[in-house]
Amino acid sequence: MNDSAFVIPAPPQASLPVVGEGKSFPVRRIWCVGRNYVEHIREMGNDERDPPFFFAKHADMLEHDGATIPYPPLTKDLHHEVELIVAMKSGGLNIPTDKALDHVYGYAVGIDLTRRDLQLAARKKERPWEIGKSFDHSAPCSALQPAAKIGHPSKGKIWLSVNGTERQKGDLSELIWSVPEIIWKLSQQVEIGAGDIIMTGTPAGVAALQPGDRIECGVDGVGTLKVSIGEPA
Ligand code: MN
Repeated sequence: MNDSAFVIPAPPQASLPVVGEGKSFPVRRIWCVGRNYVEHIREMGNDERDPPFFFAKHADMLEHDGATIPYPPLTKDLHHEVELIVAMKSGGLNIPTDKALDHVYGYAVGIDLTRRDLQLAARKKERPWEIGKSFDHSAPCSALQPAAKIGHPSKGKIWLSVNGTERQKGDLSELIWSVPEIIWKLSQQVEIGAGDIIMTGTPAGVAALQPGDRIECGVDGVGTLKVSIGEPA
């Protein structure tokens, strides 16, 4: 549809650059997995045996490599959560695990930025997590690597440092629910579509960020991402 079809200008299409391509990957939905590494579940005091669950961020909350992210409103406890990101080129409902990787376009590294104080307060009141998880600039993400080039990583170091000091470290082999299992579970809940990306959970070591912090993170074999935290908008 052209612009004249809308009563106001249509919002821009959120997207991620693709390594080695002149084209970008259009992002439709951002799904996130809660509690997918045992050490992080332990540091948050949660039940290790729970099945995975999902929450969402909006596509226009993406930030690209190199961004300076304004310290968000309402919080005094902004946390980093480095995560492997899976980008879907197709989807469906009830995708079996042995077909799940056929739907994956590629992989990236991202940060599930979290207003931890607000998330925990919402959890305590049995309210939804949006106020803690879903806010402007809350989903910085690297360029995508096509699976056609790098394959489907199931092991490799995942790490994050702040101002040169390592804070988070894990290995993709420690994911409680693997990428095919995540796709299988999520596709029972919603119809996964082309352009959906999934943040697959964070290893231990989550901690607070301050204005002026420089964050660098990566997943071996996938890529790296650098962002900074700026002053409040
Ligand atoms: Mn997370």
